[in-house]
Amino acid sequence: MTDSPDDPLAGAQLDTLAIRAGIERTHEGEHAEPIFATSSYVFPSAAEAAARFAGEQPGNVYSRYTNPTVRSFEQRIAALEGGEAGVGTASGMSAILSTAMALLKAGDHVICSRDVFGTTTNLFGKYMAKFGVEVTSVPLLDIAAWQAAMRPNTAMLFLETPSNPLCEVADIAAMAALAHAGGALLVVDNCFCTPALQTPLALGADIVVHSATKFLDGQGRCVGGAVIGSEEHMTEVVTFLRTCGPTMSPFNAWVFLKGLETLRLRMEAHSAAALDLAHWLQARDAVVRVNYAGLPTHPGHALAARQQRAFGGVLSFEVAGGQDEAWRFIDATRIFSLTANLGDTKSTIVHPATTTHGRLSDEQREAAGIRPGLVRLSVGLEALDDLKADLQRGFDAIA
Ligand SMILES: *Cc1c(COP(=O)(O)O)cnc(C)c1O
Repeated sequence: MTDSPDDPLAGAQLDTLAIRAGIERTHEGEHAEPIFATSSYVFPSAAEAAARFAGEQPGNVYSRYTNPTVRSFEQRIAALEGGEAGVGTASGMSAILSTAMALLKAGDHVICSRDVFGTTTNLFGKYMAKFGVEVTSVPLLDIAAWQAAMRPNTAMLFLETPSNPLCEVADIAAMAALAHAGGALLVVDNCFCTPALQTPLALGADIVVHSATKFLDGQGRCVGGAVIGSEEHMTEVVTFLRTCGPTMSPFNAWVFLKGLETLRLRMEAHSAAALDLAHWLQARDAVVRVNYAGLPTHPGHALAARQQRAFGGVLSFEVAGGQDEAWRFIDATRIFSLTANLGDTKSTIVHPATTTHGRLSDEQREAAGIRPGLVRLSVGLEALDDLKADLQRGFDAIA
C-alpha cells in the first residue's frame, strides 16, 4: 500500500494511484496487469501448504480467498478512497450484503436513507430484517428524522449521496458525527461520485461501498463491487467474503483496474457535460424542474461544491404534463440508450417512476419526489451537440 517510507507511491496523488497502485509484476515483466485465471494455487511443499492453510505464511491458496488480479484492484480502489484496506466483490449488492453480514448482528438497529438504490432497501428491509436486524428508513435530508431514529442499539447508518434520481446532497461529515455520537458506523455508497469526486472516509465515514458496475468500469461491461474501510472492519468483511463466497472474478477485476486508470478524466468529462445539459434543460419551457447539484438553484449546491470535486454525471428533470409526456419524450430519443444502467460512456435515459422506482406505491413515490414526469439521464461522453439534438427529438415529440 502507500504508507511505507520506501513506497514510491507514498503521498502520491489520485491520478498516479489510479494508474500505479496495486501493481504486482510477475517474473515475465509484463507492463499491463495480468489476469490470473486460476481457481487454485500450487504449493512448493506439503509443509508450505500446511503453513499457508494455517495462515502462518502468506501466499495464495484458492481464488475465493485471494487472487492476484483481484488484489491489485483491491489495493488500487483502497488507495483511491484513502482507506486502509479494500475488498472486491461480485456485485455492488454483494458489497452491501457483505458489509451488513460482517458488521451487524441480530438485535442491531440500522437507519437507512429512504433514497438509496431500491435493491439496497430490499436487502435491509427483507433479508437483514429476517435475521433480527431492525431497520428504520428516513428521508436522506431529514436530519431530525435521523436523530429521532437513533436508538441505543443503532449500529449502522447507511446512505448514498448524491441521491438517485433527485441528486439530493447529504452532509457526510455531519452524518458521521451523528453516527459516532451514537456509537454507530456510517456506511456511504459512493457509486455516483466515485473517489475521483468525493472521498467519504476523509469526511468521517467508516465504510465506503461501491457498485463497480457503474463509473468504476465506466463502459458497461462487468458487474462488480467493492468495500473499503479500516483494517479492523475490513478483516470482518473479508472473512465473510471468504466464507460465503460473493467474490470478484479476476477478469472483472482486470476490467475495473483498466477503468480506474481513466476514472478522473471520465468523471470530469461526465460532470462537465451534465452541467452543460442541466443549464440547457433548465432553459426549456417544457421542463418544470431540473435536479442537478451543479445548478446554483439546487438546494444542495453549496454543500456539493464543498464536499465534491465536481457534480457528477447523473441528472434528472421533470417534463410538463406527466407520465405520458415523459414516455413520449423518452421514446423519441434515438442516441440515448433506454436502460436503467448508469455510469457508462454511452448516455442513458430512463423513466424512474415506472422502472427503478416502479415497486413503490403512489404515496411512497410522491413522498420521495419521484413524479410521473421525471426523466433521469446518465450523461455519457458522446458529443454534447449530438446529445442535445437527441433530447430535442424528445421535446419535439411533446411540443
Ligand atoms: C447499481 C447500484 C448498486 C448495486 O450494484 P450492482 O453492481 O448492480 O449489484 C448499489 N448502489 C447504487 C447507488 C447503484 O447505482
